[in-house]
Formats: sequence, C-alpha cells, structure tokens
Amino acid sequence: MRVLVTGGAGFIGGHLAEAFARDGHDVVVLDNFDPYYDTRIKEHNVEVGRAAADDGDGSYDLVEGDVRDADLVADLVADADYVYHQAAQAGVRTDYSPRKYDEVNVDGTLNVLDAARDHDIERLVFASSSSVYGKPRYLPYDEDHLTTPISPYGASKLAGERYAMVYAERYGVPAVALRYFTVYGPRMRPNMAVSNFVSRCLDGEPPVVYGDGSQTRDMTYVADILSANRALLDTDAADGEVMNVGSTDNIDIETLATEIRDQLAPELEIEYADAYEVDADHSHADVSKASELIGYEPTYTIREGVEAFVEWYRDNRGWYEPLVRNS
Ligand code: NAD
Repeated sequence: MRVLVTGGAGFIGGHLAEAFARDGHDVVVLDNFDPYYDTRIKEHNVEVGRAAADDGDGSYDLVEGDVRDADLVADLVADADYVYHQAAQAGVRTDYSPRKYDEVNVDGTLNVLDAARDHDIERLVFASSSSVYGKPRYLPYDEDHLTTPISPYGASKLAGERYAMVYAERYGVPAVALRYFTVYGPRMRPNMAVSNFVSRCLDGEPPVVYGDGSQTRDMTYVADILSANRALLDTDAADGEVMNVGSTDNIDIETLATEIRDQLAPELEIEYADAYEVDADHSHADVSKASELIGYEPTYTIREGVEAFVEWYRDNRGWYEPLVRNS
C-alpha cells in the first residue's frame, strides 16, 4: 500500500512512518520541518524511517514541503492509498497567533480533504486531540461530550475534525478522526511533561510543575496510538466517525512528577510555576467506541509507559537530551 504521512518527520507521524515502512508499505512523508522545536529531532525521525524501510520490505520517501501548498498536497494524495494527516502546529501552549493554527491546522487540512475528495483513496485518518473538549462536564469524556475548546489549538483541531466529518458525509471521503490524549514515548516532542520531568531529573535539575499539579491526564504511550492507526489500514468500520484514543489510565501531574523524581533523582525538590490558562484541568478518555469499532485496547499503563520511555531515554540520552534542552 502507498501511505502518505503528513507531518511524518514529527513525533507521532515519525512512529507511523517507521512502522508502515517496516510493515512493507511504500511510505511518503510530507513535512516542512517547522522549527518550533529542534529540527534535528525530526531529522533523526527521518533516519529511523529510512532504516525501517531498509530493514523491512517497504520504501520511504521524504518530501520537504508544506500542507498549505494545495497543489503539492493534491499531487501526493493522488498517488496514495492511505493518508495519515498528522501535520499540524501542535501543542496548546505555544504562543503562536491563532492565525498560525488556523492556516496550518484548518487550511492545511482542507487541502488534504479537497485532494481526498478528488482522488480515490482507501482512508484518510485525521489526528485530532482531546483539546477539543475543553472543560469537562463529566469524566471520562465520551465522544458525545460537548466540545468547547479553550485554546486556539483546540479550536483549530475541532474545525479540522468537523471538516473531515463534513467531507465524509457530503462527499463520501472515507475519513476517520482520532482524538489523541496526551501522547508520549521515544523521540517525543520536547515541550511536554514526561520529557521535561525525565530530562530535568536526569540532569540534576528539579522537575517543574505548572500550576498545583492537580491537573489529571490520560497519558497515552505512543505504541497504543500506533495500534489504533494500524487497525485503520484493515477496516472501514470507523469511516465517518470520531473516536477517542487514550490510555484510560489517569494520573495527576504532581503524582507523575513525584514518581519520576523518586525514581531518577529522589534528592530533588519539585518546583511549581504558574499554570498555563490554555491547559485543560482534567482529561480522561472513554475509549469504548474505538474498542467496539476497531478493537482498540490500550496496552500500556502510565507506569509501564514511563518506564519504557525512561529506558529509551537512557539509551538515547547522548543525542536526544541536548536537543530536548535546546527546544
Ligand atoms: P509534532 O510537532 O512532533 O509533529 C507534527 C509535524 O508536522 C512536525 O514534524 C512538523 O514539522 C510538521 N508540520 C507542521 N506544520 C507543517 C506544515 N505547514 N506543513 C507540513 N508539515 C508541517 O507533533 P506530534 O506530537 O507528533 O503531533 C502529531 C499530530 O497529533 C498533530 O496533528 C497533533 O495536533 C496531534 N496530537 C498530538 C498529541 C500529543 O500529545 N503529541 C495529542 C493530541 C493530538
């Protein structure tokens, strides 16, 4: 199969591209190497993808370009059987103007959707986010929960997701939206809690918790995100649907910081800084819909996932840590 992964040099897209190339698919990655974190992490992701293609039966091609370039996107989608649209200005906290989120996450998504409408593809998977929910009315969130995002990022993801569903309904585009819940794992984005805590503790610096640490999260290990995406290669059962993909295991940020600190540097005191207003207070996934439609079951508890990440971090500290600290 020919699989286009937009944002395939990034964290999650990098894992998808690697796995698909290893599984024997012909992978094309479209990425503009946006420098909002150190692009050498993305170059590393590309190397991992190329090596996976060499190890497996698939192929790996990189196209350096922008999802805002409609002609380029149309050409790439025309050649693809599956499209995994991961490219985005990610992260609720970056201080980009709402227009940047809009241009990349909404206009860029419309380019992908237009191309998918005009060409026959097997499936288009849109990377959505738990940020679409905003403030919880109840937890865990199911997909019928109100969507009232509290950040420009969340608003742009909701718009992209709604457009994907409109294209599915009106134009028959086989689109699926996966709402990812706080994803972490090897080669993760630097500006996230798990990488910050691990990196600072191993470097002898106190972990910094934003707010009082009572915020709760479904931290989702990237292998589980991969398994949900992989399942969509084989089934059309979720076409036209939005589904939560989370760990269902839940932890508050202070406990997460404390456990990582206790394991890696028990002598350090946790520090506290002002909360970010755009951070959701609580987030927790009900994944019964994904379980029913595509057989999704999270396999990593948060403690198992963090342990796996720490092990990977220690093995890769030499190249990863300076880049994380640089971002
Ligand atoms: P990431 O920033 O590592 O990956 C996104 C990639 O998209 C990057 O490599 C970036 O260079 C690329 N990109 C950005 N703008 C682009 C453009 N205009 N044209 C082409 N490429 C562009 O982020 P990630 O954590 O891997 O997130 C992947 C997807 O998953 C995103 O859509 C994000 O919104 C979504 N998501 C991530 C999480 C998470 O916890 N990591 C949670 C919910 C949703």
